[in-house]
Amino acid sequence: MRLVLLGPPGAGKGTQAVILSEKLGIPHISTGDLFRANIGEGTDLGKEAQEYIDAGKLVPTELTARMVKARLQEDDAKDGFLLDGFPRTVEQADILNGFLEEFGTKLDGVINYQVSEDVVVERMLGRGRADDNEDTIRTRLEVYRSETAPLIDYYGDQIINITAEGTVEDINARTLEALQH
Ligand code: ADP
Repeated sequence: MRLVLLGPPGAGKGTQAVILSEKLGIPHISTGDLFRANIGEGTDLGKEAQEYIDAGKLVPTELTARMVKARLQEDDAKDGFLLDGFPRTVEQADILNGFLEEFGTKLDGVINYQVSEDVVVERMLGRGRADDNEDTIRTRLEVYRSETAPLIDYYGDQIINITAEGTVEDINARTLEALQH
């Protein structure tokens, strides 16, 4: 199954993706995790991305797309993947379409995790990641509203809406149930 996960920062996409990845037997490809791994290893890509991430801004699309394409071409992603954090803009969605066309595949669905802004801020302040301070959280929410939320219309009837409030287990069960239809 080839799925994209959408939702505001703090929606719990990453948590759900880890569980779904195991249950569906497909790799979880998170651009945030890939960037953080590159930063940790001190790669050139990590060095370029770091200033944007620390400011809560989007990393330039060219750099991000190159990283995603390379990851999608790895063996474990040939038969399916859960893409988390990409696309984040309509421009990136067009680029992803281009990659999929080139690979001769298409998406099976786009899961949209819906959550209120209060819950989002509470969750992000609770997880204590380096880029989770109040200023960057606000910036990331603004970026989400202006750049990422338009993807819900972009993907139209490919969207599978899931309420992302409640326990991790409940949200996971709702997701698996929705994927069966
Ligand atoms: P969150 O869970 O808050 O959405 P992520 O781990 O997905 O955070 O992403 C962390 C940061 O990595 C983002 O704030 C952004 O700077 C960068 N990033 C992740 N995905 C992308 C992308 N598709 N395009 C540009 N920047 C990205």
